Amino acid sequence: MSNRDVLDCLIIGAGPAGLTAGINLRRFFRQVRIVDAGAPRAALIPRSHNYPGFPEGITGFELLDLLNEQLVANDGSVTPGTVTNLQRAADGHFIAELASSDGQPTETIEAQIVLLATGVVDVDPVLEGIEALKEKRLVHYCPICDGFECTDTRIGIVTYGEHGVREALFMKNYSTNLVLVGVEGDLGLTPKAMAQLEREDIEVFVGQGRRAYADEQGAVHIEMTDGRDEAFDALYCALGTRVRNDLAAGLGVRHDEGGYLVVDDHMQTGIEGLYAIGDLSNRLNQLTVATGQASIAATAIHNRLRR
Ligand SMILES: Cc1cc2nc3c(=O)[nH]c(=O)nc-3n(C[C@H](O)[C@H](O)[C@H](O)COP(=O)(O)OP(=O)(O)OC[C@H]3O[C@@H](n4cnc5c(N)ncnc54)[C@H](O)[C@@H]3O)c2cc1C
Repeated sequence: MSNRDVLDCLIIGAGPAGLTAGINLRRFFRQVRIVDAGAPRAALIPRSHNYPGFPEGITGFELLDLLNEQLVANDGSVTPGTVTNLQRAADGHFIAELASSDGQPTETIEAQIVLLATGVVDVDPVLEGIEALKEKRLVHYCPICDGFECTDTRIGIVTYGEHGVREALFMKNYSTNLVLVGVEGDLGLTPKAMAQLEREDIEVFVGQGRRAYADEQGAVHIEMTDGRDEAFDALYCALGTRVRNDLAAGLGVRHDEGGYLVVDDHMQTGIEGLYAIGDLSNRLNQLTVATGQASIAATAIHNRLRR
């Protein structure tokens, strides 16, 4: 199927960033479509307590439902599908190829402007049971988001390399009962970094990881292949993220060493008419940042189209 009507803007990704941009662009009467592959990181949020306006907190699903409702109220909608290829035609328009979840090509969309809001994926440790813990929303990734809720508890941080030391030092703000967990046989740290951990009274638990599980009291355990087992009130993974930047990379967009797209003050990438917002384009992976960037980009896109 082919749709050769040229859109004002194609938004790729319907997490909080893409949905917020869609709401704003609809409210500028822009002809916009949002395509989404159905795996928002926001859906993993058990309950966010730092998103403004919800004193009791709000779950990721509830927030996504409300944003979808608001999009529909403004005459917008989300098309399920994955954008598998993005090209720029000679006239400057963008051509996007869509596929269904089973990989079948479904549609071609042409747009004057593309807004990327494809997010990131957290890197998880290779441990049996980690997916089950994630489904129970028992894996944390972001101390800025929920470190406050873990105040004075025993916190395990699964990590590798110097980044883990920085993460642990940051988390001392919330608890002094911290353990750096290395499940690949070591933590990848220099003797100097190990000495720093000792000075800071941060424990280490290192081995070949076998599995992660929760007990009946809700404590999360890491078990090593040699049988050692440690229990934590909260488990954080600090192994980094994989930035979903493939579509932009295909167009030659610049990204930093972490894979985050480089954008200007209006959220435009180095390519005219190609914008990027949300986790994809900033290291402070936060809902407020994603939705704030969405408003900036939507206004810039509307003004650009007016010209
Ligand atoms: C466990 C956990 C707890 C968190 N808690 C908080 C919190 O309390 N407060 C806070 O501020 N933040 C929190 N965050 C971070 C928050 O989830 C992210 O900052 C937010 O989801 C970013 O929104 P986004 O729209 O950029 O990306 P996402 O929510 O990841 O949405 C991106 C969407 O793009 C889609 N997509 C990707 N590629 C394609 C493609 N090629 N074609 C079509 N669609 C595509 C994906 O399927 C996905 O639906 C938490 C994150 C996690 C994992």
